[in-house]
Amino acid sequence: MTKDEWEALCDGCGRCCLHKVEDADTGQVYYTSVACRLLDIKTCRCRRYKERFQCMSDCLMITPDTNTDVFRCLPETCAYRLVAEGRELEWWHPLVSGDPMTVHQAVISVRDIAISEADIHPDELDEYLSTLIIELCSSVKRKPGPKR
Ligand code: SF4
Ligand code: SF4
Repeated sequence: MTKDEWEALCDGCGRCCLHKVEDADTGQVYYTSVACRLLDIKTCRCRRYKERFQCMSDCLMITPDTNTDVFRCLPETCAYRLVAEGRELEWWHPLVSGDPMTVHQAVISVRDIAISEADIHPDELDEYLSTLIIELCSSVKRKPGPKR
């Protein structure tokens, strides 16, 4: 896979840029709805993508050589995780739909869900845990049917 093909696998959902909380007893990773301060909430793209690793020390680098154990930290919908697990891309993935907007239309992206960490106090992180789970479960859209 070329570098461009690898980059194109990213659906632009922005979910991996949400802060996570790990259960110390079970190792289970939970997402909060609080996004990295560099994420543009409207476009769901990193504002400093090229220099992200210099800007954010905890930003995770994913390459074709990344140990697949790392993928459990990614959302279940993430294309990198789907490919690593041998699963198909969903209908809303831009490489399938041909339209970069379908990831937003399917409510897979965090556009209408996330809040920037710049807008909250660090001690408030846990308060944004349950909100996200409820919103993600209730909002994912099915593929639209043919127009009549
Ligand atoms: S979760 Fe995966 S597909 Fe979505 S923005 Fe992050 S890397 Fe891209
Ligand atoms: S630095 Fe950019 S790519 Fe990394 S977590 Fe923050 S917004 Fe996402």
